[in-house]
Amino acid sequence: MPVPLLDLTRQNEPLLPELLAKTEEVLRSGRYILGEEVSSLEVEAASALEAERSLAVSSGTDALLLALMAAGIGPGDEVIVPDFTFFATAGCVARVGARPVFADICPCCYLIRPESIRERITPKTKAIVPVHLFGQAADMSRIMGIAEEHGLTVIEDCAQSIGARHKGKTVGTLGHYGAISFFPTKNLGGFGDGGLLLSRDSGDFDRAKILRVHGMEPKYHHPMIGGNFRMDALQAALLRIKLPHLESYNRGRANHAAFYLREISAHPGTALPAPSGRECGDSCPCPCDEPPGDARILLPFAYSHNSVTWNQFTLRIRGTGRRDAFRTFLSERGIGNEIYYPVALSDQECFRSYDPAPCPGARRVADECVSIPVFPELREDERSKVAKTILEWLEGKS
Ligand SMILES: *Cc1c(COP(=O)(O)O)cnc(C)c1O
Repeated sequence: MPVPLLDLTRQNEPLLPELLAKTEEVLRSGRYILGEEVSSLEVEAASALEAERSLAVSSGTDALLLALMAAGIGPGDEVIVPDFTFFATAGCVARVGARPVFADICPCCYLIRPESIRERITPKTKAIVPVHLFGQAADMSRIMGIAEEHGLTVIEDCAQSIGARHKGKTVGTLGHYGAISFFPTKNLGGFGDGGLLLSRDSGDFDRAKILRVHGMEPKYHHPMIGGNFRMDALQAALLRIKLPHLESYNRGRANHAAFYLREISAHPGTALPAPSGRECGDSCPCPCDEPPGDARILLPFAYSHNSVTWNQFTLRIRGTGRRDAFRTFLSERGIGNEIYYPVALSDQECFRSYDPAPCPGARRVADECVSIPVFPELREDERSKVAKTILEWLEGKS
């Protein structure tokens, strides 16, 4: 019985009659870009996410880009991003002409370290883009404190964390902007590219809205230079059908994560690297810099003040070459797995010219991480097989 890393058809199949009927309706409407469906999605998504307002856009990447543009960030500016994230977080910074500055992450929770942000601030720093990686909120309480102290804009990258919470508040509403992705593999997966921009300030929001359509306001008058960041009506219509299920999708993922944490951590060859409830940065370097004993697998750490959406369930496999052996072992037994992400951003060829400061935490996680199946529709027999196979590997001599 093979266990896929992800199977999108299982989620969409039960909704198919509704999705097909809606598709026909949109095709017959003659209205294909923005319009009613898109504005309805904006209202419904803002309400579901407890946000003031939301702007539907062409992708998560474009939501980030739009936030940077609306914040007026450009040449000569520096923007602090985590060194361990999907490329888009930093790529967008470079695309507006600013310089991405890489801060290190905590190797327990994989999130940007507030202390590292502090070390990277210069007079040129204009913004911070914390990433709520794998579905867990970065330490927004501290990050907002640092931002206020230095007058910086905070753009939350919520691509993997729609619906996640930090101390009770939904991510994307804590900073000045929040960027969400509807890429099919994200927690609310669309049928192509799509994204959402949250903004707590109505002035910021209005600027972003104008920038979404080439900086045009009114028609054919351009006070600003924007781009085409519009969402299609069909995409919005189909996302509106899936949005009411988001909570149940996220609950499914959290269930699987709790199962893995329970089953896998029971084995002496594994460790949960930090004591529960501890704030990242309380005792940097983190306690997980020296993980206990001979633990070969480190489990992901989730803070008790966060509610995590588990876009990925990511382990660290310690010891040179061990991760490859682990992946081969899983793959031979039909278990899907993938490395998110194999290279820290500061080690990417395209960022070499920025001469980034080293980030040892990010590099270590890039060398050791591997993600296992955690999608909502994963069956109980499948997740049991995943856990059992991991324990078998630990029993072996690999
Ligand atoms: C997916 C992702 C993005 C980009 O979203 P797209 O919708 O694919 O453009 C940005 N940041 C992170 C962390 C992501 O995972």
